[in-house]
Amino acid sequence: MFSLGGTIASTEKPGGGGGGGVAPRLGAKELLEGVPGLDGSVGLEAVAFRRCPSGDLAFEDLIALAAEIKARFEAGAAGVVVVQGTDTIEETSFVLDLLIDAPNPVVVTGAMRNPTLASPDGPANLLAAVQVAASPEARGLGCLVVLNDEVHAARFVSKTHTTSPAAFRSMTAGPVGWLVEGRLRIALRPAPLPAVPVPAGPVAPVALLTMCLGDDGRLIERVGALGYAGVVVEAFGGGHVPARTVAALERLAATVPVVLASRTGAGDMLQATYGFPGSERDLIARGLIPAGFLDGPKARVLLSLLLGNGAGPEQVRTAFAKV
Ligand code: ASP
Repeated sequence: MFSLGGTIASTEKPGGGGGGGVAPRLGAKELLEGVPGLDGSVGLEAVAFRRCPSGDLAFEDLIALAAEIKARFEAGAAGVVVVQGTDTIEETSFVLDLLIDAPNPVVVTGAMRNPTLASPDGPANLLAAVQVAASPEARGLGCLVVLNDEVHAARFVSKTHTTSPAAFRSMTAGPVGWLVEGRLRIALRPAPLPAVPVPAGPVAPVALLTMCLGDDGRLIERVGALGYAGVVVEAFGGGHVPARTVAALERLAATVPVVLASRTGAGDMLQATYGFPGSERDLIARGLIPAGFLDGPKARVLLSLLLGNGAGPEQVRTAFAKV
């Protein structure tokens, strides 16, 4: 079990009286000590890997973590639990999903209520995550996200609420399973996604731009000069942008890969429905690459890792055609 910080590990400064707010302070060992029901039947190695808010994590941390996880699997570990802040779980879990191709379960969890609040959800989430990671039934499902007794596939899950313990949802597909009385029930088995090799060097910077009402395209005009290796555009609905931004997007797509995702948070990118300027058909014809069922942050993860491996436009197109 690797701890990375986050709300689940956040307490007040010792002697600080709570006036300064909570911050990540607990490590893996302390977190495990606070879990009623962990009866020792699962042998656990506790590793305090990072201790930060999850917004401070970067691709480099996840690449280092993936290497640690692979080494544990080679040494005989049945599964791995990663405990971190919930703010970026939807992205970190997808990075691990793409980089780790072993069938052993990798389960990411966290908490919405910190340990100083009434009924913190961390201990229950950690117990459930251990139960899933230790379960042979969870093998071959890629990286899973377990909170609130639900099991989500990394490729589908998003954080959808600022405070609710039921914040994690898979809007397009639903959860792949759940826990009842500590037993794991898997209801859906998504086909494995092709793994992406671990980039040898730094991961390429990729920008994420969200379109909004009345957008005049000035960010699109400028982003090309900022040194990004690729851009993900979160468009309206099924993949639409204002007509006035189309020329800038076409120019950008001629220089770096530009992936078209939706800002709606669920559903596949359209490819063949609308024919107006700025529609999905128009943008795809101008070189933009549809993101399939991936939302903007997940499309950015995939594009970053592909470009970090030196993929060219055709390899990017082929990889996105599989999601
Ligand atoms: N609110 C966050 C959490 O749920 C903070 C973080 O992501 O580190 O853990």
